[in-house]
Amino acid sequence: MNHILNLKCLICGEEYSPDEVEYVCPKHGNEGILNVRYDYELIGQNFSQNQLRQSQDDTIWRYKPLLPVNPAAPVPPLKVGWTPLYETPRLAAGLGLKHVWIKDDGRQPTASFKDRASAVAVVKAQEKGAKIVTTASTGNAAAALSGLSASVRQANVIFVPESAPPAKIAQLLVFGSTVLLVKGTYDDAFELCLEAAAEYGWYNRNTAYNPYMTEGKKTASYEICEQLNWQAPDVIFVSVGDGCIIGGLHKGLKDLLALGWIEQMPRLIGVQAEGSSFMFQAWESGEDVLTKAPIDAQTVADSISAGLPRDRLKAMAAVKETDGAYISVTDEEILAAIPAMARGSGVFGEPAGATAYAGLVKAVDKGLVLASDRIVVLNTGNGLKDIASAMKSVDLVGTQAYRVAPDIDDLRRVMAEEVGKRE
Ligand SMILES: *Cc1c(COP(=O)(O)O)cnc(C)c1O
Ligand SMILES: [Zn+2]
Repeated sequence: MNHILNLKCLICGEEYSPDEVEYVCPKHGNEGILNVRYDYELIGQNFSQNQLRQSQDDTIWRYKPLLPVNPAAPVPPLKVGWTPLYETPRLAAGLGLKHVWIKDDGRQPTASFKDRASAVAVVKAQEKGAKIVTTASTGNAAAALSGLSASVRQANVIFVPESAPPAKIAQLLVFGSTVLLVKGTYDDAFELCLEAAAEYGWYNRNTAYNPYMTEGKKTASYEICEQLNWQAPDVIFVSVGDGCIIGGLHKGLKDLLALGWIEQMPRLIGVQAEGSSFMFQAWESGEDVLTKAPIDAQTVADSISAGLPRDRLKAMAAVKETDGAYISVTDEEILAAIPAMARGSGVFGEPAGATAYAGLVKAVDKGLVLASDRIVVLNTGNGLKDIASAMKSVDLVGTQAYRVAPDIDDLRRVMAEEVGKRE
């Protein structure tokens, strides 16, 4: 893998070769998150936009020369990536904007953005000959690792909070993972998983801790820019929990700038739930994210419930270095965004997916975007992941089904009522 220069500690700047360290900077323990650095000159000599134009590969592996894997490494058969980017003129017009796209990562094989990272994790685990791979997760990273592992018969052990939505737990069990429901929060599950991985020698997929997860996530930026004919958007909205997705988006965009494939850096806007807004708070107060104390996280958007965002260094840099912002939205705004986005675009997101759209609504309100901006909203998870919240969301906006007897007279009564409502 001579296209990788080194792994650089975000805290002390020490550089390591990929053979030297596996996860974090030894000098900084679990906080010593590493950045994977590439030789762009070398990559640029062997890889071009023209090659991509001719590529038949409609997965993240079309960008393999920019990923931290061996060119010859076998990849899992599930189709990860190249999710649709829909232009949504009705949503845009409703907000007084010209160009809004939704990138629908609810269309991934296990129905969330996390497949992008777990696909890379599985390749790395197999490269190491790992017997078992493990992760802690609020649910989606676990489901992604579980499904991708099943596709290549890789044994795995999963730690999720026992409060995870049932659909996500069902995925894990269906794929045959060893599932540990932790009696505590996601943060508790994370700590336990790190300890377990050290004790049993399992390959560790944990977000941020494993530096290669950012690399899988960055492929969304490549796709957005390629799908827009390499005219980078002005702004990207994404929900933030641990901060690995926003850090990954930033990394992908930096790669493209370094290669000269795009000309401008989009502004990254991180959207957090009010009850889980560590990054938003630090952004507003200017507090150092390394010393800021963990918060008590509580939100309907379970996928972004994180008391101590594990990738907070990359997540803060993503916003600061792109002239972006952090926004916080209430659970009510998140729930309202589910039907609003679905009705305006046909894309049904889970709460954390619709959170990005709730952030756009708020940003318009606060004057953070221009009417002419080209804006991408990332839907990170499928609405079917959390039916209880979806039902709450329609209740909130007053949408109900009618109960009807199986005869036409009763139907006529109902339809008359429906027409009355429309008028
Ligand atoms: C994990 C996840 C997020 C947040 O990603 P982070 O890297 O934790 O910030 C957002 N939405 C969904 C659906 C997710 O699964
Ligand atoms: Zn260090």
